[in-house]
Amino acid sequence: MRKTEVIVVGAGIAGSMSALALVRQGHRVTLIDRWEPGHARASSTDYNRIIRSIHGRDEFYTQWARDSRLRWLELQEETRQKLYYECGSIILATVGHCDWEDATAETFTKMGVPFNRFAPHELPARFPQFEATNIAYGLYEPESGMIMAHRAVITTVQLFQSLGGRVERGSVTTDADERLLLAGKPLEADLIVVATGPWMGEMYPRTVKPISTVIGVNVLYTSTPEGSDQFDQSRMPCWIDHGEGSFGLPSVEGSGVKAAVVIPDKIDLDNDERLIKKAMLGRTRQYIKKRLPGLVGEKVVDSKFNQIIITPDTHFILDWHPAYDNVLLAGGCSGHLFKHGPVFGEFAAGVGTQQFGTPDRFKLGPRRKLSPKESPSGR
Ligand SMILES: Cc1cc2nc3c(=O)[nH]c(=O)nc-3n(C[C@H](O)[C@H](O)[C@H](O)COP(=O)(O)OP(=O)(O)OC[C@H]3O[C@@H](n4cnc5c(N)ncnc54)[C@H](O)[C@@H]3O)c2cc1C
Repeated sequence: MRKTEVIVVGAGIAGSMSALALVRQGHRVTLIDRWEPGHARASSTDYNRIIRSIHGRDEFYTQWARDSRLRWLELQEETRQKLYYECGSIILATVGHCDWEDATAETFTKMGVPFNRFAPHELPARFPQFEATNIAYGLYEPESGMIMAHRAVITTVQLFQSLGGRVERGSVTTDADERLLLAGKPLEADLIVVATGPWMGEMYPRTVKPISTVIGVNVLYTSTPEGSDQFDQSRMPCWIDHGEGSFGLPSVEGSGVKAAVVIPDKIDLDNDERLIKKAMLGRTRQYIKKRLPGLVGEKVVDSKFNQIIITPDTHFILDWHPAYDNVLLAGGCSGHLFKHGPVFGEFAAGVGTQQFGTPDRFKLGPRRKLSPKESPSGR
């Protein structure tokens, strides 16, 4: 493809990685966001995100996560920024709730992804932080861990700029025909990638809203016991506890232990403050008491209230707008896009420059809810 004028709307991880991949291909790229890249309203905010290949029976995302891990390592090397901690991750399969975990173990075996399976009586010896009551087994993936999310967005945008990309502040809107406008005028370029994350539904009431829902998620950071490094990333993995509707990350760079009990909350994207709900404080403390008893009595030191946009099948969105053949919609987070950022961006750039098409799973068409065994996210 000849050198192309490209606009990417949205500087979260999806947009910044797409912009970086496009500028690396030699195109003239402008990245536009309503706020400063790295801002705290975006889904890509916060210290960290888990990267793991755990995706049930879904080989596609398992491979993407494996490839992304290498890309993150390369980006870390290229930029000399600490972006990835390989602290491992574990899924705690709860008794009577193991379909997704069983499917993941089968996929790992088939694809040669390294993992260990720990019986409940082995868990306390290996990871004494977790109370193993009601756990059927733990599936541990050593080649996984956490991405420093905020730093990763900033680093990606800075690298993009250093390669000639332009960053601009602006609010892109759509008219009744879902045509893109900036400051009331049509937004024009050879290619426009729209990566506005949870705002995509509002921008595209006909095209994206029917296949998406936005939910708020409350996250708490708890201090670690004085004098102990047991809850640091050097000693503790990230974890997913689907049976309890929870996940978390160990303390990193002094953050405290991050724990989220995912109870879908309402959120008004533009009008709500990003303050956690008081009720969630109690729910998270109950969870900590049950699963991480070593943290009982520790204090909440930080918190985040943020949002995800979810599609029914939890597959991302990467497809051309039905009415505009230069507008590529790129996002659909579904709670698991961050880790895939580098591969997602390269893929979006390849689709956007018509080097290849988009797979059915990313198409806008009707979506259906999947069973836990089929679902890439277990949701
Ligand atoms: C609590 C929580 C925990 C998570 N945990 C994980 C995890 O462990 N691992 C993982 O892989 N993923 C995780 N995710 C999901 C991941 O963070 C998201 O999938 C990802 O950040 C989505 O990025 P995005 O670029 O699509 O959206 P965003 O980061 O929201 O970026 C969209 C950008 O578009 C801009 N924008 C919006 N509208 C306009 C407009 N009209 N004009 C101009 N700019 C606009 C916004 O300002 C924003 O900067 C988690 C998400 C949350 C909330």
